[in-house]
Amino acid sequence: MKIAFLTLGCKLNYAETSTYERGFVAAGMEVVPWREKADIYLINTCTVTETANRKSRGEIRKVHRINPDARIIVTGCYAQMKPDEVRAIEGVSRVFLSDEKAEVVPETLKAVGLDSEDAARKESTIFGAYSTGERTRAFLKVQDGCDNFCKYCTVPYARGRSRSLPVCEVVKAAEQIAAQGIIEVVLTGVNTGDYGRGTSESFLDLLKALNEVKGIERWRISSIEPNLLSNEIVDWIASGTKFQPHFHIPLQQGTDEILARMGRRYTTEFFAEKLRYIRSKMEGPGKPKVFFGIDVMAGLPGETDELFEREYRFLEEIRPAFIHIFPYSKRPGTPAAVMPGQVPEQVKAERVERLEALCRRLHGEFVEQNRGIREKVIFESKEKDGSMGGYTGNYIRINRPYDASLVGRLTEVTI
Ligand code: SF4
Repeated sequence: MKIAFLTLGCKLNYAETSTYERGFVAAGMEVVPWREKADIYLINTCTVTETANRKSRGEIRKVHRINPDARIIVTGCYAQMKPDEVRAIEGVSRVFLSDEKAEVVPETLKAVGLDSEDAARKESTIFGAYSTGERTRAFLKVQDGCDNFCKYCTVPYARGRSRSLPVCEVVKAAEQIAAQGIIEVVLTGVNTGDYGRGTSESFLDLLKALNEVKGIERWRISSIEPNLLSNEIVDWIASGTKFQPHFHIPLQQGTDEILARMGRRYTTEFFAEKLRYIRSKMEGPGKPKVFFGIDVMAGLPGETDELFEREYRFLEEIRPAFIHIFPYSKRPGTPAAVMPGQVPEQVKAERVERLEALCRRLHGEFVEQNRGIREKVIFESKEKDGSMGGYTGNYIRINRPYDASLVGRLTEVTI
C-alpha cells in the first residue's frame, strides 16, 4: 500500500508529519512522492495566510484527480480552523483535529484494514514528534499550543492551550535521534519558551537535561518569545553549554504602540535590552557574534508610515543577523482583522521590500563581523555543483568543495 505526504507551514508541522511517516512505514507502507499515485494522501495544513488555505485546497483537488479512489487525510491548522470547509472538499475522507493527532496513524490504518500496535495507544495531551529529514539536523517538538492570544494570531484557536512533553520523554526522543548519528537538534514548539507551564518542570530544567544527552553536540532553540528567554536561561547557556549563539526571537513590530495594540508582552526597550544582555554574556574577543533571527510582520493594523519608519530605525539599532518578514494577513475571527487602520496591500508590499533590503545589508554586516573567527560547521550531505554547505554554531552558511567524509561531523573552519 502506498502513501504520500505533503506538509505546509511551520517546522512543527514537518516534525509531526515525520512522526506520522514513521508510523505508516512501521506498518509496512511504502512512501511515494506527493502527486504520485498513492492509496492514501496525508496533507498537514497551515492556516497562517489565506494563500496557505488556498494551497491546501488546491493540493487536495489535485491528488483526488490523480487517484479518485484514494483516502485523503487532512490535519493541521487549516483543518482545525475550518473543519467543515475541509470536509466539504471532494475526495477528503477524514479530518483530524489538533486533539486527535495521536489517532492519525492508528485510525487510518484501521480504516484501510491494517492495524498496528499503536492503535491501542492514545496520547491525548500532547503528541510528541521529531523529524530528521535533513540527515544532519533534527527538529524535536517539546511544546504545543499557546495561551497568549496576540491580536492577529489564530494559533491559540488552531492548536489549543499551551502544553508540554515531560522532560524524560523529550530526553528519550533526543536519545533516539542521537542513536541515528545526528549530532544537532533544534527544539521546536508553538511557544517554546512557555515549556512547563502548569507543571513542576521548567524550560531551564529541560535545557539542562538535554545538554547531558550523549551524542548530541549542538542544540538550538527554534523560536522563543523575548519575555520568556530569561536572564537566568541566558546565563546558563553562556556558561559553556551545547546551546549555540543563535536565537530566533519574534519581535513582530518595532514600536511600543503597535506591540501594545497587538497584545505583545514586552516593549521595544525590553527587547533591545535582551539582545544587549545576551551579547554581553556570549560575545568577546575571538568569539563568534550571536546570530539573532527576528520575526517581523509588515503592515499590522495601525502601522502608519511614521510607525514603520520608527520600526525601521529600531531594527537598524538592534542589528539582527536576519529578519524573517511576513506581510500581515488578516485572519478572520481575530481582533486585529477588524481593527481600524488596515494597511493597503501595496503599502505592505513596499514595506516588505524595504525590510528585505535591510535584512540583506544587516546579514552581510553580520558575516563581515565574524570574518577570521574560528568556528565549527556541520556539513550537510546535499551536493550541488561539486560543493557542500553547512552552518556554523552562529548560523553562518559555509560552502566548500564536496567531501563525503565531512558530512554530519563537526569540522573546524575559519569564517
Ligand atoms: S505568542 Fe505566538 S503563537 Fe502565541 S498568540 Fe502570540 S503570535 Fe500566536
